Amino acid sequence: MYGTILSNLKSQPKKNSLSSPTSTATTNNHSMMSSMPEQGTTTSNNSRRQTMNKDNNTIECECCNKRFPKDEICTLTTPDGSVEYEHLCEDCEMMLRNEADPEATVFYNDDDYPHIITAYEDATEGDFKTSWHATDGWRGYFDITPSDQWTPIHSDCILSHSYDAEQLEKFDKEFQQYLLSNNINYARVFTRTSNLFSTGYDLFVEASKVAQAQTIRVFLSLKYRDPHTFNMTALTGKDPDEWTENDELFVKSWNRIKNGEDPEKILKELQGDA
Ligand SMILES: [Zn+2]
Repeated sequence: MYGTILSNLKSQPKKNSLSSPTSTATTNNHSMMSSMPEQGTTTSNNSRRQTMNKDNNTIECECCNKRFPKDEICTLTTPDGSVEYEHLCEDCEMMLRNEADPEATVFYNDDDYPHIITAYEDATEGDFKTSWHATDGWRGYFDITPSDQWTPIHSDCILSHSYDAEQLEKFDKEFQQYLLSNNINYARVFTRTSNLFSTGYDLFVEASKVAQAQTIRVFLSLKYRDPHTFNMTALTGKDPDEWTENDELFVKSWNRIKNGEDPEKILKELQGDA
């Protein structure tokens, strides 16, 4: 199951995700360009008339710059309704839709039909919204916001092909079994990140039954979601049976530096121990 979801989220080029925060600016440039008057239309009355006829009936595509009949105009809007492209030809509209990477894939209960959210489509019909969260100029991940109907219960990250991911899969499976047998509706959301080896995992339950679901979350987190294992895997890329003493030292130091300790002090301490 995870394998299919991951390959769906990752099979396409990354450029869309990285350019999505700036795509509005790009679109504005395109609109400006295409609304500028055409040059070379004043040579003769005849050609001017021709140009006017052409301009009245056709319009330039914002994407491929070809002219096409005005009555075939396509627009492209984001799920929240803002217009990304005002006048596209049919081919470009189709191409842009098809090329838009899935930002999130949502599964409801035990139904394995994927509800995909891209920059231009929202198969959840507003149930979930994505937003790009930049961690720096190039890297980041998609955040997911639910409608009032859903409450987030567990947020995690799948570190591809790792022992930690296997543990998360067991967590996911047992959590689902519990929710199904207790008639609690749930949604699982897989979101894309700029890191090819990690995928966001978020579990939501129907808002009115969150207290009941919390009990099992605590139990399964203790069983399958050890924060040390997650950190070690994320930082070293290794499974527990491959961890060396140096890996442990590295992650321990990383945690201390993250908590504000002086790196030089830690280094001196470690050298003294050696
Ligand atoms: Zn076009």
